[in-house]
Amino acid sequence: MSDFWAGVQIWFQNFNARYGVAALICLGVLVLALFMYTIIKTVIAGQSKERKVQLRAKMADEKIRLRAAESLADMISYQTTPDDRNELKRLISYIKKRYPKLFAEAEIENSDCGLLFCLKTKNNLKKPLLFCGHLDVVPAGEGWKHPPFGGKSDGGKIYGRGACDCKGPVTAMLEAIESLLCEGDRPQRDLWFAFGGDEETGGEQGAAVFAELLEKKGVTFDLILDEGGYIAKSHSDSKDFPIALIGVGEKQSCYFNLKASGQGGHSGMPRGRTALGALAEAVCRIEMIGNKKKLTPMAKRFLVQSMPAMSFSKRYLVANMPFTRPFLKKAFVNDFEVSSLMGSTLVPTRVQGSDADNMLVSTAECVVNAQLMPSQSAEKTLAFLKRLVADLDIEVTMSGATEKVKLTSTDSEMYKTLCEVLKERYPGIPCLEWISSGCSDAAHYGNLSDSILYFTPIVMEKKTAFSAHGAEERISEESLGAAVEIYKKLMVI
Ligand SMILES: [Zn+2]
Repeated sequence: MSDFWAGVQIWFQNFNARYGVAALICLGVLVLALFMYTIIKTVIAGQSKERKVQLRAKMADEKIRLRAAESLADMISYQTTPDDRNELKRLISYIKKRYPKLFAEAEIENSDCGLLFCLKTKNNLKKPLLFCGHLDVVPAGEGWKHPPFGGKSDGGKIYGRGACDCKGPVTAMLEAIESLLCEGDRPQRDLWFAFGGDEETGGEQGAAVFAELLEKKGVTFDLILDEGGYIAKSHSDSKDFPIALIGVGEKQSCYFNLKASGQGGHSGMPRGRTALGALAEAVCRIEMIGNKKKLTPMAKRFLVQSMPAMSFSKRYLVANMPFTRPFLKKAFVNDFEVSSLMGSTLVPTRVQGSDADNMLVSTAECVVNAQLMPSQSAEKTLAFLKRLVADLDIEVTMSGATEKVKLTSTDSEMYKTLCEVLKERYPGIPCLEWISSGCSDAAHYGNLSDSILYFTPIVMEKKTAFSAHGAEERISEESLGAAVEIYKKLMVI
């Protein structure tokens, strides 16, 4: 650092000697003016009417909220983990009984692994809508304080596996349509519902079968709405700055299997590099090179739109792009909502080596889960990985890749309608286009609509968002009630 200041001093001395004091003062004034300009820009960028968004401005109807909370608690009690199909059947029977108005009219198309049904309308003037969700859950795992399949309500929140992923949203959709039918408010078009029974394991027997059936029937949709984005209660550095993260696409999830070869035998007599050693080197390279973050155009737009929620220093960096570009990535790389727009991820998830402490294996394997940005192809990533480990005697294969995901335009009618409905419920809420991670059931419905949005109108705190698939998964009762009201609006568009 002292070298830097010494350099600056020499530069000033040279400048002074060459152009004189007056020029030096002019230069100083210019630099100061420029600095003041960046400060003013930052201050202006922080002022937004949207700061006043009140998530609790309008409470959900109490009757709706209480009934939805009761239904969700019941749904959570069914342990619909991937290995228990009977429990899934029991949950489906419960749903049919709990929503009698709906199932008196709905036509069930498939209930082998999940539930696909349609509510037909007589004056069918518009193309149908498809509401998606899933009934299966990941196993409970460790670390729970509340019983994972108890559906316990505590402090206004309902706890249990599936509370937000995805039994909460499914409950909200079912409550919404049942409530509309009870009120005699008929939807203006056919409404389809697809609740997969194996989303967490790829949807091959649920959503993939539903998609084939719908394609055979020739049904296409004005909108397919599945899980992905949500309402983030706080954003960036602000404690109370809600934003709606509307998924216009999702990352493509696929797997790469790395198989390293080496000399097997007794660990006391190693010969050259071991298979596990080569695999470890490959994993290091993937972590170093495969996860580079980029400031994509969508990440830039997201940053600009969410400036009012940022601390002054972060806002300074965003407001004064591109001068501050080198610092931007570093400042936001740990902000989940922004970093998920900064590129694909390649994460090693499973390793298999020797079964014994003193045995060398001739092959060691590792699985790398890739979450690819919609612009990136799985084949190109496979080629990249092959090149990356070419010198390590490692074979790379790919599985689980689907077709590239299309992005839904923010200019589309359905995107705008969704934002309008949200703003009606939460006045002033900023709707930001987003790419959700993971691989939802909607990945199978790519041919059925030009508008696929990944969004559930559930309010999540940072900790709640991370509780999906983790311990203490929960959803606020208030947000569940509000979600019912939002779905009711969406079902009659
Ligand atoms: Zn899910």
